[in-house]
Amino acid sequence: MYKTLRLIAVLALVAVWAIVIRMWTTRQTLPPSAPAVTSGQSGTRLVMGTFANVTAVARDQDTITRAVTAAHDELDAVDDMMSDYKPDSELTLVNREAFDRPVPVSEPLFEVLQASLEYSIISEGAFDVTIGPVVQLWRDMQKQNSRPTDQQLAEARQKVGYRHLILDAENRTVRFARPGMKLDLGAIAKGYAIDRAIDAMKAAGAAGGLVDVGGDIRCFGLSPKLTNTWRIGLDDPDGDGDILLVLNLTDIAVATSGDYRRFVVIDDQRFSHIINPSTTASARDLTSVTIIAPTAMQADALATVVSVMGHEKGLALIESVDNTEAILIPAADPALFIKTKGADDYIR
Ligand code: ADP
Ligand code: MG
Repeated sequence: MYKTLRLIAVLALVAVWAIVIRMWTTRQTLPPSAPAVTSGQSGTRLVMGTFANVTAVARDQDTITRAVTAAHDELDAVDDMMSDYKPDSELTLVNREAFDRPVPVSEPLFEVLQASLEYSIISEGAFDVTIGPVVQLWRDMQKQNSRPTDQQLAEARQKVGYRHLILDAENRTVRFARPGMKLDLGAIAKGYAIDRAIDAMKAAGAAGGLVDVGGDIRCFGLSPKLTNTWRIGLDDPDGDGDILLVLNLTDIAVATSGDYRRFVVIDDQRFSHIINPSTTASARDLTSVTIIAPTAMQADALATVVSVMGHEKGLALIESVDNTEAILIPAADPALFIKTKGADDYIR
């Protein structure tokens, strides 16, 4: 009897020890997945003609600094490559010479152009990176404060068409089949840059991060509140600075296109900077298009696509794309939200 009691006591002790040791070893193995201890922001910087802000979450200040710097370096690098404003960007070189000869380009630029053609195809031409001549015309006319004439628009339209953009994957070259063509990556480069910045932050060892370029955003991993959810406020298009709604995002991107942040003003009339390539008119059915998608490039491009396609066709397209949601505000009734079926899962 006594022996049995002693055996039970020993077994109990062993069990308690086992639990203690287990707890201890678990604690020892915790650090890699343990919550990050700190977060930091880059502060606002100018890139791609808009404001960028990067947030990093990591266990130490060094990692935060490295991640934030790496993210901004990527944003700047993509801007240097794909800006149509910069006289020495790769895009400017292509625009200048691609009718005369096939121009060899970098992998990133080729990748973005290939993706652009895919968006042209799925949107039946609503998305078109050869829209450059029309965009340029609207910009020039804004300076003169007069509307482009029908003839001017028709001339510019002659130089637009993604089918005249020839990409040679084997030699990685770009060629224009028509004179006067001009690429404009304004609807997609920002998203691509954000994706690159996110990759750079992960490579720098951040446990979480968010990259915001002009309201287009992608986040990953831990937020500063040490949860996997980032709460993102969407601005009200009426411009009063109110937050329209709050999105809860985890490892995903969101982009908004609309005529309320960027536009052309001629004779006190506001024109969207998004052009319908088939009419050369500026898009006006939707005041705001917000797209949630796995990558920022997808969200950015699809926001422009839906702005051009308008609410019915645009919504149908987004319903057909996996893991992608849309929140639209029609120009005719800004109090109304039009959403894809899964959008409410992100709205709180
Ligand atoms: P934002 O610059 O406000 O994020 P978008 O992502 O919608 O807005 O991009 C708009 C820009 O895309 C325009 O300024 C122009 O450079 C370019 N663009 C305009 N219309 C089209 C179009 N139909 N397809 C592709 N790019 C376009
Ligand atoms: Mg866009």
